[in-house]
Amino acid sequence: MVQYLIRLDDLCPTNNLTKWQRFFNLFDDFGIKPIIAVIPYNVDPKLLKCGNYNPNYWQLVRELQRKGYTIGMHGYEHLYQSTNSGLLRMNNRSEFAGLPLIAQEAKIKHASEIFKQEGVITSCFIAPAHTFDINTLIALKKYSYIKTISDGLLNMPYKRFGFNWIPAQLSEVAEKKANTWTFNYHPETCTDREFYNLEKFIVKYYKHFVSTDALVFKEYTWYDSIKEQAIIYRRLLRDKLKFAAALLKF
Ligand SMILES: [Zn+2]
Repeated sequence: MVQYLIRLDDLCPTNNLTKWQRFFNLFDDFGIKPIIAVIPYNVDPKLLKCGNYNPNYWQLVRELQRKGYTIGMHGYEHLYQSTNSGLLRMNNRSEFAGLPLIAQEAKIKHASEIFKQEGVITSCFIAPAHTFDINTLIALKKYSYIKTISDGLLNMPYKRFGFNWIPAQLSEVAEKKANTWTFNYHPETCTDREFYNLEKFIVKYYKHFVSTDALVFKEYTWYDSIKEQAIIYRRLLRDKLKFAAALLKF
């Protein structure tokens, strides 16, 4: 059996909402409940430039929550402060990884307070750039009610470090035969071609899309750990080779 989930990153008060609305319409037409990565206090200059300030931002977030979408805490300010690649080693930039516990606790505490004040329940954590470390998890346990992490590279949901993990492996739709796959889109930068491919895929496979509360989480074993490390090192090697090839061309 194959299960698909879909995650949209970077909802903030200065989005280009036309770009987002086409995703929402598509999901609602097919009864798909996505995960939305909501930034509680965006200061990321790139995202500040996407569109006009939306005074009804939190109203929109509450509306998405009412529709049954999963609302995720997408960091606090979405501002990268370290070059640490964290547990998953996917990117060399982070709002959390490598920062002292006290600094990470302050971010999670402020983020939790904002969501609470706005009447929004965040059931999962989504680290900007997929970068976070053990201290982020400690801070989440102390200052939030979050029990789920939307990240990881394995092909099924699992339990680890006291959290439920929903792996987020792919940036675009792909046909799979089995297991659980999250497609991670960024509406602000998604091209028309990518969106068209997503539409086509959903028309064909909408029945395989599940919401986060339909998932079953298995225990993480030593074998999973070896598999995950192998995936991490394969990705790192691939990136190094790509970099070397680019240098040779240059
Ligand atoms: Zn982001």
